[in-house]
Amino acid sequence: ARGAMVVLLWYRKGLRVHDSPALAAACEGATAVCPVFCLDPWFVSSGKVGPIRLRFLAEALADLDASLRARGSRLLVLHGKPEEELPRVAREWGATHIVWEKDGVEPYGLKRDAAVREACAPLGVTITETNGHTICDLDELLKQSKGSPVTTYSTFRTHFDHVVARSPIVLTPTPERIPAPSDAALAEEARGRLSVPSVADIAPSLADAGPSLFPGGEGEALRRLDAHLARDGGAWAGAFEKPKTSPTEIDPFGAGTRSTTVLSAYLKFGCLSPRTFWVRLRDATKGARTRSAPPVSLDGQLLWREFYYACAHAVGPAFGQMEDNPICRQIGWRVPADDPAAAEALAAWRDGRTGYPWIDACMRQLKSEGWMHHLARHAVACFLTRGDLYVRWEEGAAVFDELLIDADWAVNNGNWMWLSCSCFFYQYFRCYSPVAFGRKYDPDGAYVRKYVPELARFPKKYIYEPWRAPIADQNKAGCRVGVDYPKPIVQHDVASKENMGKLAEAYKAHKESHADSGGEHGSEGK
Ligand code: FAD
Repeated sequence: ARGAMVVLLWYRKGLRVHDSPALAAACEGATAVCPVFCLDPWFVSSGKVGPIRLRFLAEALADLDASLRARGSRLLVLHGKPEEELPRVAREWGATHIVWEKDGVEPYGLKRDAAVREACAPLGVTITETNGHTICDLDELLKQSKGSPVTTYSTFRTHFDHVVARSPIVLTPTPERIPAPSDAALAEEARGRLSVPSVADIAPSLADAGPSLFPGGEGEALRRLDAHLARDGGAWAGAFEKPKTSPTEIDPFGAGTRSTTVLSAYLKFGCLSPRTFWVRLRDATKGARTRSAPPVSLDGQLLWREFYYACAHAVGPAFGQMEDNPICRQIGWRVPADDPAAAEALAAWRDGRTGYPWIDACMRQLKSEGWMHHLARHAVACFLTRGDLYVRWEEGAAVFDELLIDADWAVNNGNWMWLSCSCFFYQYFRCYSPVAFGRKYDPDGAYVRKYVPELARFPKKYIYEPWRAPIADQNKAGCRVGVDYPKPIVQHDVASKENMGKLAEAYKAHKESHADSGGEHGSEGK
């Protein structure tokens, strides 16, 4: 019809209807809105994404579909490469416009979006990109830093405050009704081709695994957020300090008990808008008697996310690697592809069989649940790189990228650079002990006993150092070190000392080659 405005609303992340500038832009003046999600083989059948994250995606899509249906619409799921599927449906469904939320910085996503633009160009559709995946528009932050990557949190905060002062954080209202998809889209749907995938479809190994620890979707995200913000009438959120949270909690994941929010997966997929988190947090903690401050406060955590996004946006695709990455120290790490011993060390780390119970428990939690606490991530990342195994950080980031339910390119690579002392944090002479770290939080070893069950009956005295237990104790516990549980892969005190020496050399070489660049700071209390 003349004057018809048929909009394809392409969901990628941003899987929500609340605070969605993309949804609002799609609805504006539209006669039809066709919300689509494209099951891209690059993610869903490549093996790059583990089943736990795929299950979360299936649940998030079902939840989004329900939210859209409650507003007179529905989710239409495409199967195939976005650069083929988007132009196909744009043509067949009569689209005049395509809207998507910028999600940023990941090299694959940038390439994909460019390919979709190019493939859609001959169709003459108008493409609109909106913000929503980060609190600020990353281009505004980039302007504020005059195009340079910012590697210190305090400078970043100043930039963030300037950008927010210019464009205050305002939430986008959720539409009550959404124009229905075009007839052609509904006709294709009626042929049964566009249905939302079930968990069995995209994560078959988990189809019968029972309830998820993290049910995907914005409904759950908002419920969990509000439950956290209501804890002690807002006092919990107001007084939140990251260093005072615990990596060894093993209680259920429900809000109201955890020492952190466990909302990262919801932010990663955009089931939760970071601005909604920011605004509701601000409102909930207004009257709180104790208010912590960034970087350790809860708003400070959201700023870390924003910080890494801004930095990754400024650096570009090289942010995910050491080579050609202008902010990353060049260090002669061991490379598994060229070094069988390093490959074996990486495999042992990944599988949770390093012989250090604290490290193995963390890695096994990652594998079985897709999540671990921030300090547990610290422990295992330090161990793999500068602490013990001296394997290059990109290998660890790739394992996290596959297994974490919240795997996020900018945040993951940024934190790996931090932990390996490659950027942001430079005190390589401060190294975590794979024995004392866990014991500090959990002297009885309940966390280790849960995730490394072969050690469950070990005496408390040896739970973090089972190799020290007399054979009689090992027999009594039903676990012989070297038989039922591995011996330590390295001797920590020897390996860490040797690695510090190598890092000292790398830092010296860096200093000599950047004699006049300066401007690097310490950890700022992360
Ligand atoms: P909370 O403490 O409740 O914080 C609220 C939110 O703030 C989080 O959900 C997250 O979005 C953000 N946030 C918190 N800490 C950080 C941080 N250090 N950097 C950036 N954002 C932060 N987080 C990811 O979301 N995806 C990743 O792929 C990821 N990889 C990491 C790799 C390493 C080596 C390390 C050390 C940390 C990594 N983190 C990653 C950061 C952090 O560990 C998680 O965001 C956090 O543990 C998630 O738990 P939470 O939601 O309970 O956090």
